[in-house]
Amino acid sequence: MDTSSLPSPWPQGATTLTYTGGCHCKKIQFEFEHPDIYSMTALECNCSICESRGCINVYTPVEKFRFTSGSHDEMTTYTFNSHLVQHRFCPTCGVSIGALVPSYTPQDKFKLTQGSEDEISQYTFASHIVQHRFCPTCGTAIGVLVPSYGYVGINARTVDGIDLERLQKNLTKVNGRELTLSTTEDGGELKPSVSWDNTGRQ
Ligand SMILES: [Zn+2]
Ligand SMILES: [Zn+2]
Repeated sequence: MDTSSLPSPWPQGATTLTYTGGCHCKKIQFEFEHPDIYSMTALECNCSICESRGCINVYTPVEKFRFTSGSHDEMTTYTFNSHLVQHRFCPTCGVSIGALVPSYTPQDKFKLTQGSEDEISQYTFASHIVQHRFCPTCGTAIGVLVPSYGYVGINARTVDGIDLERLQKNLTKVNGRELTLSTTEDGGELKPSVSWDNTGRQ
């Protein structure tokens, strides 16, 4: 499986384990495939939301993540800035589960010639995946953004039995403050426009 677009790509041919986790009240429970978590470096990001949540993240392709209790619909979604990364948390106990990160941005075939993404109001409902956009001044609906999701960033603190002390011995700090997501020239795959800082930290 090609995991090169993950912020923390898996080693070639790595065998994966099944991890389970969930929020505090257990309304949201999930399982996902990932190589031995302690054999890889987890990411600690300094962007505004990761810093406020104290998040340490591990990443898995979206098809390797499934719910055993609850669903995406039952979580609350928070977006900001590009509104493409969807930060999800349990509406009952407030625990942050992680984020859904799209694998491409549909805007590569659509350019605004006046105004910007930030100036368009958006409305989401149900899955909160499709973004309905309209002009905040005149209310005219511009259309919808339908992202496809590439990977899930999982809050490592929500993984069952996680040894945080052990995980923290092998953290990579990433400079999420300067991270913007953009498309590549050819395939339109979403890539960080600054390279991840893979300098390990003890
Ligand atoms: Zn909960
Ligand atoms: Zn971050």
